[in-house]
Order: sequence, then structure tokens, then C-alpha cells
Amino acid sequence: MKRFLIAGNWKMNKTSAQAVHYVKELKAQNLERPEDVAIIAPFTQLEPLKKALEGTGIALGAQNVHYEHSGAFTGEISVDMLKEIGVDYCVVGHSERRQYFGETDATVNKKLKVLLEEGITPILCVGESLETREKKQEQAFVCGQLAAAFEGISLEDAAKVVIAYEPIWAIGTGHTATPEQAEEMCSFIRGMMEGLYDISIGEKLLIQYGGSMKPGNAKDLLSKKDINGGLIGGASLKVKDFAEIAHIAAELAE
Ligand code: PEP
Repeated sequence: MKRFLIAGNWKMNKTSAQAVHYVKELKAQNLERPEDVAIIAPFTQLEPLKKALEGTGIALGAQNVHYEHSGAFTGEISVDMLKEIGVDYCVVGHSERRQYFGETDATVNKKLKVLLEEGITPILCVGESLETREKKQEQAFVCGQLAAAFEGISLEDAAKVVIAYEPIWAIGTGHTATPEQAEEMCSFIRGMMEGLYDISIGEKLLIQYGGSMKPGNAKDLLSKKDINGGLIGGASLKVKDFAEIAHIAAELAE
């Protein structure tokens, strides 16, 4: 049975009231495999969402974390704070955080370590810019991001990390990578992780594709051998579109 994780990254959208309403509507969509679905929400919505999602089987995730447990880091949120709420996932290294908020390969590595230590599953985002792809350096670039992200992380811990391949040129642009381009990179990532660790890690890893995934292209993308789901931005904001992608994944999982 193929494994999937369909995660909706809401980015900086929705109030808590809207978030709770969304869950009410999502419940009515009767997801076949809610355990393969996660909502990745802004910090202020995590607590109300945790309550709203109780008993649904749908997981909850944060969009960022600080790598220190506490201290003088105004505006930041620690892993202990996330743990107290009971989040399952936390996105690390999203390209928007790398671009606008100074996230680096070094901070990504520290964040992975603190999340793994505390039992929250990281969703690690990697992916190249259009310029890098045009120079045909996308594999070398992603390879560098992965090597830096996993430095000092054991095989056992590395196998728990969800990797999201998100080509920057496809995020929020409407330009989806073709299923072939997405599969090529996800397969490369699996192979690269096997090389970095051990052949045994390949079958354990969940590798998502992210970048303008929507109901109309989800089946072609999710049918690919090395794509275990999606990190979905825009389309996850609409309950019906998000549920439709989850239905497609559930069908393909069988
Ligand atoms: C994302 O936010 O990770 C993403 C892939 O966004 P979108 O689906 O809107 O391209």
C-alpha cells in the first residue's frame, strides 16, 4: 500500500474562527483516510484547531519553530510551546521563510534536531529557483540543501523526516512542475538520502511534492512512484479542493 501525507499549508491565512469553521466543513467531506491528512496552520490557530480536530484523525502542524527551547527571541515560538499544544508536524525551511525571514541551511539543521529530539515530525522543504533550474543545477542545489539539513542527524531520526520537494518557481505561481519533473526530483531525493545514509532509508521516507498542486493535477502527480503526497498552499484554503486532493490520494493508496 502506498503511503501519503496530504498537508495543507495555510500560510498567513484565516482567523481562528475561520479555521474552526473550515474543520467543521472538512468533517462533512468524509475523508476516507484522515490519518493521511494534516493542516499546517499559523500559531494562533493551533490551539483552537487542536480542539476542533479531536477525534477526526486529521493531524496538526505548525509552520515554523525556533531552535532554542527558550530565551530572548522576541516573536518566536519554541518546540516546547508546540509540544504543549500537541502538534504532530512542523514545517522547516519553507522557501518563503528562507527568502523573507533569513532561514538558512544552518538554522534548518538546528530546527530539525530540536523537533526530532522532542518527537514532532519535521516537514523539511527543499527546492530550487527558476534560475538554478535553467542552469540545470537543480539536483546539485537540492543535494546541498539536504546534506546541510541532515548534518549530524542519525539514520533512525532522518527516516522520520518528511521531505517536501517544492521548486520555488512552482509555489503560488500556478506553474506546476510536470509530473515527470516532480518525479525525477523526488526519486533523486530518495536516492540521495540512500547514499547519505543507507539503502534502508529509501522505503521509509515520505517525500511530498509542493507547488500549485490542485484537484486538476493531483492525480497525475500523486500517481508517480516517488511522490508520497503534497504540501498544498493555495488549494488547501478551499475545503472542497483540499478534500478532493485527499480523496484522490486515498484512492491511490489502495
Ligand atoms: C506551499 O505553500 O508550500 C505551496 C506549495 O503553495 P502553493 O500550493 O500555493 O503553490
